[in-house]
Amino acid sequence: MTHSQPPLDLSPKVSDEVRKTTCYMCACRCGINVHMKKGKVAYIEGNRDHPVNRGVLCAKGSAGIMQHNSPARLRNPMKRVGPRGSGEFEAISWKEALQIATDWLEPLRREAPEKLAFFTGRDQSQSFTGYWAQQFGTPNYAAHGGFCSVNMATAGIYTMGGAFWEFGQPDWDQTKLFMLFGVAEDHDSNPIKMGLAKLKKRGARVIGVNPIRTGYNAIADDWVGITPGTDGLFILSLIHCLMKAGRIDLDYLARYTDAPVLLNGDPKSPDYGLQMRDEDGKALVIDRTTGKLTPFDQPGVRPDLAATYRSAGVTHRPVFHQMAEQYLGEDYTPEAVADRCGIPAKRIRAIASELARVAFDEAFELDHAWTDFRGEHHKTMTGRPVSFHAMRGISAHANGFQTARALHVLQIILGTVEVPGGFRFKPPYPKPATAHPKPHCNVTPGAPLDGPHLGFVQGPEDLALKPDGSPARIDKAFTWENPMSAHGLMHMVISNAHAGDPYKIDTLFMYMANMSWNSSMNPGGVIEMLTDTDESGDYVIPRIIYSDAYSSEMVAYADLILPDTTYLERHDCISLLDRPISEADAAADAIRWPVVQPNRDVRGFQSALCDLGAKLGLPGFVNDDGSQKYKDYADYITHHERRPGVGPLAGFRGKDGAKAGRGAPNPKQIDRYIENGGFFVNHIPEGAQYYKPWNAAYQDWAVDMSLYDSPQPYLFSLYAEPLRRFQLAAEGHGDRQPPDHLRERIKQTMTPLPTWYESDPHGTQGYDIHALTQRPMAMYHSWGGQNAWLRQLHGHNPLYLPTALMCEKGLRDGDWARVSSPHGEITVPVAEMAALNPKTVWTWNAIGKRKGAWALEKDAPEVTKGFLLNHLIHELLPPKGDGLRWSNSDPITGQAAWFDLKVKIEKTAPPAEAKPQIPPQRSPVPPPPKNLAWKVGK
Ligand code: SF4
Repeated sequence: MTHSQPPLDLSPKVSDEVRKTTCYMCACRCGINVHMKKGKVAYIEGNRDHPVNRGVLCAKGSAGIMQHNSPARLRNPMKRVGPRGSGEFEAISWKEALQIATDWLEPLRREAPEKLAFFTGRDQSQSFTGYWAQQFGTPNYAAHGGFCSVNMATAGIYTMGGAFWEFGQPDWDQTKLFMLFGVAEDHDSNPIKMGLAKLKKRGARVIGVNPIRTGYNAIADDWVGITPGTDGLFILSLIHCLMKAGRIDLDYLARYTDAPVLLNGDPKSPDYGLQMRDEDGKALVIDRTTGKLTPFDQPGVRPDLAATYRSAGVTHRPVFHQMAEQYLGEDYTPEAVADRCGIPAKRIRAIASELARVAFDEAFELDHAWTDFRGEHHKTMTGRPVSFHAMRGISAHANGFQTARALHVLQIILGTVEVPGGFRFKPPYPKPATAHPKPHCNVTPGAPLDGPHLGFVQGPEDLALKPDGSPARIDKAFTWENPMSAHGLMHMVISNAHAGDPYKIDTLFMYMANMSWNSSMNPGGVIEMLTDTDESGDYVIPRIIYSDAYSSEMVAYADLILPDTTYLERHDCISLLDRPISEADAAADAIRWPVVQPNRDVRGFQSALCDLGAKLGLPGFVNDDGSQKYKDYADYITHHERRPGVGPLAGFRGKDGAKAGRGAPNPKQIDRYIENGGFFVNHIPEGAQYYKPWNAAYQDWAVDMSLYDSPQPYLFSLYAEPLRRFQLAAEGHGDRQPPDHLRERIKQTMTPLPTWYESDPHGTQGYDIHALTQRPMAMYHSWGGQNAWLRQLHGHNPLYLPTALMCEKGLRDGDWARVSSPHGEITVPVAEMAALNPKTVWTWNAIGKRKGAWALEKDAPEVTKGFLLNHLIHELLPPKGDGLRWSNSDPITGQAAWFDLKVKIEKTAPPAEAKPQIPPQRSPVPPPPKNLAWKVGK
């Protein structure tokens, strides 16, 4: 007998269309499939074909639907009608908004372009925004790298032509020992998680170095709960152990690094300590075969690590000699550093020997033939399966640049960079500092700046100084105070503009940077600066234009708001000219495109800049007849050429879309990207995939792809010569001289071989507990704290204290504590955490919100219990008795030293709300609905 079964739809259709674009719920830029029903976003999944995430989607990514529908979205352009900070605005049309901006900016461009300061936050279009600012003619442009991880990026570029994250990645498939330092879990999120999964599957070992054991550190095989700010000391001790034991890759050092390069040894010479070079500027080594002095790159040369060169009674020694002298000394023995680092000496030795064991005893040969830049043919590639990763944790200290450099030296002496199993660059990297532009700052009213704003200085001659020696830039980037500030110093812009130091500006123009709240040190002080008036009642910072998609705390401080779209409503270009999404085996770039049309009167910020650029008549944004050149950002992405044949997107170039890297603009390029899933990938051929800086086949491929214009092999810089040039100036050599009060600091901190120094030895007496923030995996800066789904994961943020400190202070979970620093005081809830460095407390970053912002309810936990540590941090250090207020930044790069904060803690009675409470601001968007719910489709 047959029973009739009810028909079951085993695979119901979840959507009527899938649109593939790029996630922007954090900076990883994973590929996403946006499922649409009846024209609305139904849900988001990972794109399985995408090179970044291969289908993996994190909690943030899937919560993108709530970001797209957030009640905090701005609705229209607005002009301020109440006092600054009140949040009182009037909606205006785009026509009026652009006219106001033009009326403000046009006279500045004509008379004094530097009076515009244009700074962008989490912008992923810096090659475009920088180009716009350059055409305007102001020297005052940068993105947010100065308060994020410029130490990391700069140290990597100056040492080996690339850093971690966007610059390179571990060889996840072959590495056997992975060591990560101070990683924020919301950056490089899915790629690291996928990589860790691979390691765990293969039984590879993970060592996490972090004062806090959360996230990636929680799944590490070994957790090293280091004391904040001492990573450099720990790393230099590892280097000490490895050099002492002779467990370093001498062949690699001799062939591919400056270890054998001779240094001028004549103390009387103005070039003392600089590399010896031939007439063509090529570094000189002694060839082991001939014993002769020779340029490093000649065919057949075998550089000698040990040989010295004697001339005119002076002995010139190679870099390697200096390394031995510096690192084999007693200062770096594990016993000497153990207490300061909070790591027993025995453990430091054990880690050093494990690194050496895996790098050398588990080395392997990969059957890939290749030819190096000296023309030598190699039948195989030697694998050293040890890799490293680091991020902001080691970077955001006043010694972060040298710490990051030390980590690269550790990688290099183990021979683990650009080899199988090690750390590998992602195109367009590797690219040495000398192949990057230098900073430009020469202003001509009515004309573009003389070149790109940001770059890599090679010595004092490249500083951004006016003829009288004063800073050319409002943020004082590229000055003696922070000579190698390659990303600018966004965190100093408001205080310098308020002080009129080095000069007054007229208009502060910012994009996506929450500078009156979690992106500033000392938010209360910044709010005062933004609202301060002069004797005639005018604002000290006369005009502020701000663009954001959401009602962030910063919105209330603008005079004019240009509302941006959400990431699902816009065009974007994740470009090889900028911060691409390449993999170690391939160059890749991607787009965003409007998978949904905005239902508000908003425009993608970059499209608004195309309009504004045309109204201002900026070269590059108008045609010869004065008409607008790019109708919107998509038009710019398609047709702009930075160099002939080289544009924002590398894929589908040429009239028929068949070219990669170089080729004429293709009017259908964006359509081709959409058809291809929103991205483009071009794989590096076998034999060119490793040893990239020295591999002739890779260099040729990179030229074809337009990454370079000609092959440019180079040596890794264990010894960073530009630093030595600044030291020479501080010693009195050269025409450009530092002010006297900075000479000693330059000599001590700008050592060409990485060193370690206390990040702030004088300013924190009595405050002896380190206080850190971390960004949670589920949030991306302040954005996540308004997201209905993600708020359920992190609605508020206790201050976590280690167990012993909880006991000492008589605290229990849920109690409240007063936390103070030399700059301020906060009162916050506490919680105990055992897996924490005993001298450290911490909290999640940017969960705390201001009342009135982000369309949150008045009693939302984010505004009543959430808090920021920023109130305890100041952009200047406490007075040291020398009459000067020193910047709370790395003295080399200007990186904001967020993690140098030290505090005192005492128990207090629970207040009604976390303190301080800054008075509410009026919301420029309607109050949030009680429930956020809607029906998609039928
Ligand atoms: S890791 Fe970042 S980019 Fe990737 S899915 Fe998550 S939020 Fe999106």
